[in-house]
Amino acid sequence: MSDANDVTRKIIVFGHDTLRRHAKLVPAVDDSIRELVDSMFATMYGAPGIGLAAPQVDESLAVIVVHPRSEEEETRALALINPETLDYGGRSTFEEGCLSVPGIFEDIRRPSWIKARYLDFDGAEVTEEFDGLMARVIQHEMDHLKGKLFIDHLSPMRRALIKRRLRNIQAD
Ligand SMILES: [Zn+2]
Repeated sequence: MSDANDVTRKIIVFGHDTLRRHAKLVPAVDDSIRELVDSMFATMYGAPGIGLAAPQVDESLAVIVVHPRSEEEETRALALINPETLDYGGRSTFEEGCLSVPGIFEDIRRPSWIKARYLDFDGAEVTEEFDGLMARVIQHEMDHLKGKLFIDHLSPMRRALIKRRLRNIQAD
């Protein structure tokens, strides 16, 4: 059954070309971009997931949304348009998954904090530092904008071990 108010989008999975493309910068944060952001939040919450990048809904644009949940640290819902990393540091390992690589969860090492510049929902330029879960999820989603998936961070041996499961995702 279709619902006219349902703005959720189909999430594409491993093997789809768009996931490997570099996303285009957004020229202006207009209503069409705000609509995309709204539909991405709805899709992310509906999945459910804690982050989503526009290429995952087959839109090759530099837009990500995140909303990790934690009882230990402060997190929030945030849309980042044309995000770029200005600085980063530290190291942490955390188990990641991805809505476009369903069923696979792997420990990934990343910087523990980042300083990012992005445009917000209103098109204002923001420079902000993130750590903890927010830094983790934002980095994962920013990778998508470069056509990169979290499994690309794995060692060749670890990658070989999940090869068959990746093929199964692709075949669906
Ligand atoms: Zn992902």
